[in-house]
Amino acid sequence: MKKQHQWDTTWLLFARMMADRHSKCASKSVACVIVKDEKPISIGINGTPSGHMNCNEMYLKQDNILYKSAAEGQSQKHPDLSIVHNGQMFHRCDNQEEHHEWSKMNEIHAEINALGKLAADSTSARHATAYVTHSPCHACSLALIASKIDRVVYSTGYEYGDGLTLMRQSGIEVLHRPLTEEYFLERIFDKDL
Ligand SMILES: [Zn+2]
Ligand SMILES: [Zn+2]
Repeated sequence: MKKQHQWDTTWLLFARMMADRHSKCASKSVACVIVKDEKPISIGINGTPSGHMNCNEMYLKQDNILYKSAAEGQSQKHPDLSIVHNGQMFHRCDNQEEHHEWSKMNEIHAEINALGKLAADSTSARHATAYVTHSPCHACSLALIASKIDRVVYSTGYEYGDGLTLMRQSGIEVLHRPLTEEYFLERIFDKDL
């Protein structure tokens, strides 16, 4: 049990690092690592399909305020609320929900990306564990159920992550393992955990 807990934390930290370093979503960095027989068999990160424009090329979120690239046609209605980021001009979005709407149509969730990669290789996720930085949304939960995953372990609650009950009702073991600040600072190298 103790060993399982340690591995759960290891894979969650790995997922956290993949998300933080490699997600190109301006709003949320999400990753899903699928582990089977103690090996990672797939990694998914939230974002647009390859070859499509990345979210962070169009949007920018700073201090919880959403901005859109001036190059993408966002008009400058609030000159005092425009910012320059990496040499690119961004204007504050009138509709602060705009990213959410755009994301639903253009970005693939981390879990679907991870399961999709397995499907592309005809590899089964049956009896595997999905480690996700955020609690899966309803659609991703349905996909995880369909893939016959045994366990789902997540570290952060997500406001749209409402698929937990659904997964539990389908027999999936769902665990919440928060990664605390102290964990990163003090315990990451503690092998006696
Ligand atoms: Zn995004
Ligand atoms: Zn999702």
